[in-house]
Amino acid sequence: MGFQVTVYDRHDRSGGLMIYGIPGFKLEKDVVERRNKLLADGGVEFVLNTNIGEDISFDAIRGRHDAVLIATGVYKTRDLDLDNADAHGVVRALDYLTASNRVELGDDVPDFEDGELNANGKRVIVIGGGDTAMDCVRTAIRQGAQSVKCLYRRDRANMPGSQREVQNAEEEGVEFVWLSAPGAFSGHVTGDAATEQERDVDSITEIASVRVQKMRLGAADVTGRQSPELIHGADYDEPAELVIKALGFEPEDLPRLWGSRGSRSRAGARSRPISRPTAPASPAFMPSATSCAAQALWSGRSATAARLPTASPNI
Ligand SMILES: Cc1cc2nc3c(=O)[nH]c(=O)nc-3n(C[C@H](O)[C@H](O)[C@H](O)COP(=O)(O)OP(=O)(O)OC[C@H]3O[C@@H](n4cnc5c(N)ncnc54)[C@H](O)[C@@H]3O)c2cc1C
Repeated sequence: MGFQVTVYDRHDRSGGLMIYGIPGFKLEKDVVERRNKLLADGGVEFVLNTNIGEDISFDAIRGRHDAVLIATGVYKTRDLDLDNADAHGVVRALDYLTASNRVELGDDVPDFEDGELNANGKRVIVIGGGDTAMDCVRTAIRQGAQSVKCLYRRDRANMPGSQREVQNAEEEGVEFVWLSAPGAFSGHVTGDAATEQERDVDSITEIASVRVQKMRLGAADVTGRQSPELIHGADYDEPAELVIKALGFEPEDLPRLWGSRGSRSRAGARSRPISRPTAPASPAFMPSATSCAAQALWSGRSATAARLPTASPNI
């Protein structure tokens, strides 16, 4: 009884954010690896290093299987609309956390070795107030950062991350700079750009400081949350050799990315078809975006049970 299950993943290990996102000090990686082994020993086939939409088309996957459950997570990162937001030394939270987890798993990580994704000895600024930002500040402390400051545009009471995580981070030496947002990045021009006669002087290649803008909380928006407002003339420059952007994630537009026929769905509150089943291709369903691992498990199980009535909820 049951189904032969095949898991496709673009990474070289399965486990998603539990292996490469959540830091090891919150979730020990041997627990995740043990679970992966149990699944493999139980007959689940893992096809790794396979990016759907690039290495294999989604329609090819649908043609190979009786049903497809899409559980690709939420990876489109929000970014800052500022000049130099991609300068050397300004990095995305998930790149930073993935590198750290890979190092702990024993992988060679050139971007860590060359210092780009390593906080050791640096003045670090993390931008954001959610749980991902908390994981970044606490990882930077563990990597031996010289200082770690977290900029968040609202105040402590209105941050999205857990208060316990803030307390943990403060006890470890993180400084929270509430009611603050980045206004500009400044730094050095290095390499070829430095010798070009007609270079764009506003364009830096290496971060040196963040212009911090001070905010106050104004009127509530439609959601009832007070909106941050700029306090003019209160800016100052904060030196930094590493800036980590932890501004949250959005669902990707999978039907467009994957060019799937008849597609019409995005991640939402409930599982739903991504495309109309057309024989001989299999129906495909995607569970909702989730904010914690337990919810992800529940979502996947519910989607499977609802769409495949003979599936056991205890798989
Ligand atoms: C930094 C961070 C810390 C967190 N901390 C916690 C915590 O402490 N506790 C908690 O409960 N939750 C935490 N969460 C949330 C939790 O990790 C997620 O809710 C959960 O992992 C979501 O599971 P998922 O299987 O839906 O997605 P993911 O874990 O993201 O797995 C999706 C998988 O799909 C693969 N994939 C994506 N696109 C493709 C493609 N095109 N082709 C092939 N494969 C693809 C990815 O490689 C990945 O392996 C955290 C999240 C983050 C980002």
